Amino acid sequence: MPATILDGTKIAHEIRGEVAADVKAMAAAGVRPGLAVVLVGHNPASEIYVRGKVKACQEVGVYSETHTLPEASTTAQLLALVDDLNRRDQIDGILVQLPLPPQVDAKKVLMAVDPAKDVDGFHPVNVGLLSTQRPGLVPCTPAGVIEILKRSNIPIAGQEAVVVGRSDIVGKPVAMLLLNANATVTVCHSKTDDLAVVCRRANILVAAIGRAGMIARDFVKPGATVIDVGMNKVTDPVEFARLFAGNSKREEVFQVKGSTLVGDVHPEVNEIAGAITPVPGGVGPLTIAMLMFNTVKAAKLRRGSRVPELSRV
Ligand code: NAP
Repeated sequence: MPATILDGTKIAHEIRGEVAADVKAMAAAGVRPGLAVVLVGHNPASEIYVRGKVKACQEVGVYSETHTLPEASTTAQLLALVDDLNRRDQIDGILVQLPLPPQVDAKKVLMAVDPAKDVDGFHPVNVGLLSTQRPGLVPCTPAGVIEILKRSNIPIAGQEAVVVGRSDIVGKPVAMLLLNANATVTVCHSKTDDLAVVCRRANILVAAIGRAGMIARDFVKPGATVIDVGMNKVTDPVEFARLFAGNSKREEVFQVKGSTLVGDVHPEVNEIAGAITPVPGGVGPLTIAMLMFNTVKAAKLRRGSRVPELSRV
């Protein structure tokens, strides 16, 4: 039996609706959450991401402003901008769009963001708050993974969870969130011995690797829930055929566009998993929804009693 498809687009829509209701309740109390997005240069992918974030703000009623700096900007210029945004009361969230140009010390810039406004959840203070289970800002994509599981009624407590990938942005925070939700967690990486055997232990398998279709059928316990965080652009026809031979719908799109978006999980896993997130339309849409959630949460945490009690924040 094919796996149940976990519809990330639908779940993200649900979350955005809840965030919009919270923003409305805050507006009635005279508070409008605000997000500042910092973009440096003209990286086409970054420009698309930033446009998506600004559009999401408009849809849920969050105030937003975009600061676009020239490609040749220095670390000092970025630090001055971040300092100004840290001080402004109207701004609850600051998002520095990565990657930054090579001459900029990205770590220094991210460290300068006030942890209370760090809606990406990357600041060491927020990493520490997450690992000690205190209220803080949780990275958006990992938080989205947990929302998919919870809202799809997939049990986490007591389950064997395996996370493939240990990046600070995805793998580690996903593992910490699963641990906080009482799963038994194993984290794998490029040096893991016999990866397929370890993965086959999982009731919940999270793939955050960055390698198209690497998680094949023999990595998956029958009936497991598979969360595919990977987003890989495939342009090579041989690679495409390895993944999608016989899939006429994908073939049509590939012929027209010359590329297709693929996760880290091979499509053949659909035949063995119990439930699975598709790519596109799985984890991806949750990232921006959780950014909106984090901006409202930051406003609530920062402004305290000046805003009313909110439903889920
Ligand atoms: P990353 O920083 O490159 O980390 C990749 C991780 O995978 C590393 O821990 C690496 O191990 C591990 N790895 C690489 N090759 C491996 C192999 N052959 N076997 C086992 N482990 C291996 O990537 P990331 O930023 O975490 O992103 C992961 C994927 O998620 C990418 O496809 C990215 O595009 C996608 N992503 C999606 C969203 C979204 O919104 N859906 C958001 C963020 C990222 P080592 O640590 O040993 O090198």
